[in-house]
Amino acid sequence: MPVITENIICITCPMGCTLQVTHEGSTILNVEGNNCARGIAYVQRELTDPRRMVATTVRVSGGLHPLVPVYTKEPFPKPRISELLEAIRTVQIEAPVKMEQVVLADALGTGIDVIASRDMPRGAT
Ligand code: SF4
Repeated sequence: MPVITENIICITCPMGCTLQVTHEGSTILNVEGNNCARGIAYVQRELTDPRRMVATTVRVSGGLHPLVPVYTKEPFPKPRISELLEAIRTVQIEAPVKMEQVVLADALGTGIDVIASRDMPRGAT
């Protein structure tokens, strides 16, 4: 495996440190620029199992609005995000929707739920 040096921005906290990372595959050889040890853990995860929070919308029938914003309860495996978005596009839920209501449980068998980020009351009929 080639030795690579690259910049990785740690998104663990709002500081957003730019880390200069030298690695050989998933083996970390050196990290600079991290203001705390969590930066090292972030890099390790980024090299082995990168994940991101995913936010999008889901269709609602009978609601005040036709869509409700949703997000993954935990960071989701990055390589499967487009597959997740496809799965979410097929979901349609009934109003009323409660904030943090699960709209897609155990998404793609990852154990991660997709939940509503706000209430959506029924619309006027
Ligand atoms: S390295 Fe530490 S201080 Fe810097 S962004 Fe990551 S968690 Fe925050």
